[in-house]
Amino acid sequence: MKCIFCDIIEKKIPATFIKETDDLIVIKDVNPKAPIHYLIIPKKHIEMVQDLTHEDQLLAGSMLLMAKRLQQELPANGGFRLHINSGKDVGQLVPHLHMHFLAGALKAIDL
Ligand code: AMP
Ligand code: ZN
Repeated sequence: MKCIFCDIIEKKIPATFIKETDDLIVIKDVNPKAPIHYLIIPKKHIEMVQDLTHEDQLLAGSMLLMAKRLQQELPANGGFRLHINSGKDVGQLVPHLHMHFLAGALKAIDL
């Protein structure tokens, strides 16, 4: 099933790209909830964490390692927050697995 993130990955609709690897893209969230708000998105269309399989082990790990890489490029050497909504009932809006990467002045936020 194709979705808006698949269209962004295929460059059919625009987004602000921060990084692209063979497996992942990182884009700016269009509606930022923090001074730095990126989305780490696998190129493979996987709907949510519940759909990951053993085959996706490397891919899942690469999402975390991408967060580490993004932190190293932050202006201040600070921390960050990772957040995944996995299911419509908890507020997942886009049905394509993605991890929010948030940094800067973070308060309690509802994603
Ligand atoms: P969620 O599915 O609730 O984890 O959140 C989806 C996120 O995708 C939201 O924070 C949206 O602001 C963001 N979003 C939706 N469409 C786009 C887009 N075209 N470009 C960048 N971010 C988007
Ligand atoms: Zn998709």
